[in-house]
Amino acid sequence: MAEKGTQTLEMARKQVDLVAKYFDVDPGILERLKSTKRELTVHFPVKMDDGSVRVFTGYRVQHNDTRGPFKGGIRYHPEVDLDEVRALAMWMTWKSAVVNIPFGGAKGGVQCNPKELSQGELERLTRRFTWEISIAIGPEVDIPAPDVYTNPQVMAWIMDTYSTFKGYAVPGVVTGKPLELGGSVGRYEATGKGVVISTLKACEYLNIPIEGARVVIQGCGNVGSIAAQYFDKAGAKVIAISDSKGGLYNEKGLDIRAALDCKKRYACLLQEEVSGTEVITNKELLELDCDILVPAALEGVITEENAPRIKAKILVEGANGPTTPEADEILAEKGIFVVPDILANAGGVVVSYFEWVQNLQELLWSEEEVATRLENILKRSFDEVVAIHEEKKVTMRMAAYILGVGRVLKAHLLRGIYP
Ligand code: GLU
Repeated sequence: MAEKGTQTLEMARKQVDLVAKYFDVDPGILERLKSTKRELTVHFPVKMDDGSVRVFTGYRVQHNDTRGPFKGGIRYHPEVDLDEVRALAMWMTWKSAVVNIPFGGAKGGVQCNPKELSQGELERLTRRFTWEISIAIGPEVDIPAPDVYTNPQVMAWIMDTYSTFKGYAVPGVVTGKPLELGGSVGRYEATGKGVVISTLKACEYLNIPIEGARVVIQGCGNVGSIAAQYFDKAGAKVIAISDSKGGLYNEKGLDIRAALDCKKRYACLLQEEVSGTEVITNKELLELDCDILVPAALEGVITEENAPRIKAKILVEGANGPTTPEADEILAEKGIFVVPDILANAGGVVVSYFEWVQNLQELLWSEEEVATRLENILKRSFDEVVAIHEEKKVTMRMAAYILGVGRVLKAHLLRGIYP
């Protein structure tokens, strides 16, 4: 069986094949859409706290910049590999196009376990990686952002390293920065908040009341932890949440604040810290009886193996690529409404775009301005995808692909091929 990263790339390429029949497209152009434009692999040394030197491997993959500069996060994870980053870069291209922001798609990753690194090691790793990929990034070329296990502090180091190298401050080289360094208000919570905005739209469309709706969330990071709070605020009942080690479940609804406090304090979810909960595995969590299921961790968790047992009415993809195409078919047969990743989790890159625009113009927008613009873009995009879903009688994923890939194709045709 192929490695997980390779399977992820196969899945991303298959999604493009599936949408191809809706376009009259030259097979060469299709191949171009399925391939990346530039790929940088770097091996670099980092001085560890014990005095030893360790060599790490990192990637920056640029999939497509037909509609604008490359854009996408950097993830730190022990299992990151080139194929996974290629797939994630491709998804960024479609995501930017679905929400119609003028960016292409890219992704980066460093193969490491950030949980085992000290702050000093993490900083040195980030700075050296930034230096290694500095030939490929820049505010007009390719703009990184946070992803799995990276955060505003990591973005601050990227901004500082790149700026030091240039000799002047370049805040627009990266988004998701701390507010003090040109970060945008609302960026930190944007992905999780966007997931909830999309869910509310789905509930409205399907006539499912959000009040009391039972929500299950896989993941407690940049996306899951924020989404949990917004679901709670919206009157939904978060009945389960997990991190990479496992989850907590209470059919009457979890004390979200206690769960997130515990995660913050102990870096894990402890049953004794959240009253009335049962411990469950990530596998069990996905199969819980609920109204809304939000996978908000890694790709490939809903497969043909467990899809028949998914009981949610709505599946909202906070993670990138959580559902395989085989699982998609099963979910469609079961009548589960899927809000696909390239729509559901686009709030992050939308506010990244706002951050970049503010940096380039040296402006600071208000919280209200960011919130209103985010909501407008996500709601409009949801409506556009639903319109295609109804008109062409296709799944929401296919509709989002028709919209996103269609916009990229149109841009390709307008630009033509050089020379
Ligand atoms: N890593 C996030 C994503 O997968 C955000 C990317 C960005 O803001 O550029 O969408």
